[in-house]
Amino acid sequence: MLPSSNKILSNPIRPVKSLGQVFLTHQATADTLVAALESHPGETILEIGPGKGILTKRLIEKGCRVIAVEIDRRLVYFLKELFSSAENLTLIEQDFLEFDMTNLRGLKIIGNLPYYISSQILFKLIENHFTWHTAVLTTQREFAERVLGKPGGRGYGSLTVLCTYLFSRRRLFNIPPSFFKPSPEVVSTSFVLTRLSCPPVKISDERWFFAVVRATFKPQRRKTLLNNLSRNIGLDKEKVAAILKEISLPQDIRAEDLNLEQFALLSEALRIFCH
Ligand code: SAM
Repeated sequence: MLPSSNKILSNPIRPVKSLGQVFLTHQATADTLVAALESHPGETILEIGPGKGILTKRLIEKGCRVIAVEIDRRLVYFLKELFSSAENLTLIEQDFLEFDMTNLRGLKIIGNLPYYISSQILFKLIENHFTWHTAVLTTQREFAERVLGKPGGRGYGSLTVLCTYLFSRRRLFNIPPSFFKPSPEVVSTSFVLTRLSCPPVKISDERWFFAVVRATFKPQRRKTLLNNLSRNIGLDKEKVAAILKEISLPQDIRAEDLNLEQFALLSEALRIFCH
């Protein structure tokens, strides 16, 4: 038998702020997040940062095969003891950014992400998109807006573009700070990413496309493409200007003004030029 939710939530492990440790304490919200995964018994679920196990417990109860990656040794010990009878749980004590997921396939992913590395985690999930098809993630609201945004909208950036290319994106709900312990300073937002079976634009070299998209927004999304690309891709400004002209983009256009089709065009044109 698994321990009660009270035992999970009332344990005295002191949260470490620098590890983004705010633990969800609202059981109904945890249940809704797990339900959003639409998981079935036997399915493999990768959980990022299980913390005190509020989501983990429900996943185990559903009969999923759970792989949970947690960086904090105290929590790993706590969870190992708590769920010692669960044969369908594999706990891995590791920094998720170093966790090798390349050999895994068909995963579903769930995580209330540690806020300090949400961006790095999402880029890792993007690079390893072939290993999973559905993710239910919770992040700070502002970060979620970057993932869920539209061209020209608030927070539109490389994450938005790459997520639009790879996933259908669905906002679930906001979670108030009071549902976590300790309470974070900001509202959180949960969302679902589902990998598209066929990307909306044709890209001949995905790695190159990812690199170009990231390069166009660096160091600042408000700088012109001309500036960011010449700086980050190592082409001189005249060459970048010629490429922009060839694909009918204005010389003073900024990355935040481009839609997915235009990013695809730009990436293909640069590829021909740079390879
Ligand atoms: N899932 C739990 C919940 O909903 O209550 C905990 C969420 S808490 C926001 C983030 C969790 O990620 C913490 O347990 C923290 O220790 C863990 N964490 C932080 N950095 C990590 C990393 N680099 N790799 C794996 N886990 C990490």
